[in-house]
Amino acid sequence: MINDNDLKHLKRCIELARTALEAGDEPFGSILVSVHGKVLAEDHNHVAGGDHTQHPEFALARWAVKNMTEEERAKATVYTSGEHCPMCAAAHGWVGLGRIVYASSSEQLAQWLSEIGVAKSRVHNLPIHEVIRDTIVDGPVLELAEQVRKLHRQFYAKNT
Ligand SMILES: [Zn+2]
Repeated sequence: MINDNDLKHLKRCIELARTALEAGDEPFGSILVSVHGKVLAEDHNHVAGGDHTQHPEFALARWAVKNMTEEERAKATVYTSGEHCPMCAAAHGWVGLGRIVYASSSEQLAQWLSEIGVAKSRVHNLPIHEVIRDTIVDGPVLELAEQVRKLHRQFYAKNT
């Protein structure tokens, strides 16, 4: 179930994705929110420099290990503009973070990129549940996914 508070956090993720796009990077943004609803950390994609492991969800997983107890991590939520890739889902699971809420799914992204004619990435688009178990996952959100789709179209319009 996605409530108004979740939508507010997802909108921030989309703003971060837009920031990434404006910086010449792929449009993905994510935030880490505590059990009390406090935004603890934010990040967006940093793969333009050539390191394609620099995803925001991975950065947040590492931030969480350095700055939170195991119990705090288990109760925290990661919000993200696009569903975690397998690398980030695994990192999320390894560090014991809690719920995940995404605006658009990996399946949607794969479909959008195929419509634009972008070659498939070497890493499979797997749903989070095929990578990690025992995790509450909510998404996608139709109207927000549409905004994310536009950002991806803009990215590939600029970069092809
Ligand atoms: Zn990732």
